[in-house]
Amino acid sequence: TSSHVQSDAFNIFSCQLCDLRSPYSYYGQKPPNTRAIVLLEECFVTKDPFSPDREKFLILGSECSLCRKRVCVGSDCSLFYTKRFCMECVNKHLNQFPHQIQAELAKKKPPRDPKSVQR
Ligand SMILES: [Zn+2]
Ligand SMILES: [Zn+2]
Repeated sequence: TSSHVQSDAFNIFSCQLCDLRSPYSYYGQKPPNTRAIVLLEECFVTKDPFSPDREKFLILGSECSLCRKRVCVGSDCSLFYTKRFCMECVNKHLNQFPHQIQAELAKKKPPRDPKSVQR
C-alpha cells in the first residue's frame, strides 16, 4: 500500500513509448549548476552519474509538443525538429515534415504496423 506517495520528493521520468524509467533532477530549459547552457526545449534532465564533472548532465526526455506525452530522446521514441515530437505524432504528420526528415526516418525501420508487413 502506498497511500501517500510524495511525487515531488522523488521524481521519476518514464517514457510513454518505451520502458525507460529514470529519476530526474530537473525539468526545464536551464539546468542548475550549469553556466551557459540553455536548452532548446524544456527537458527532463539528470546529473550524469558517470561523470565527475558537476556540469555534465543527461537529457532523459521531454514532452511531445502535440500530444503532451512524455517521451525519451531515443530516436525510436521522439524527434526534435524545432520542437519535440513523439514518434506517434511524427508518423501521423509525416507529410508535414521536410523531405530531409522524412528521408532520415525512411532509413530507419518502418513503423510497427501489423497490417503492412512486407518482406
Ligand atoms: Zn522511449
Ligand atoms: Zn505526440
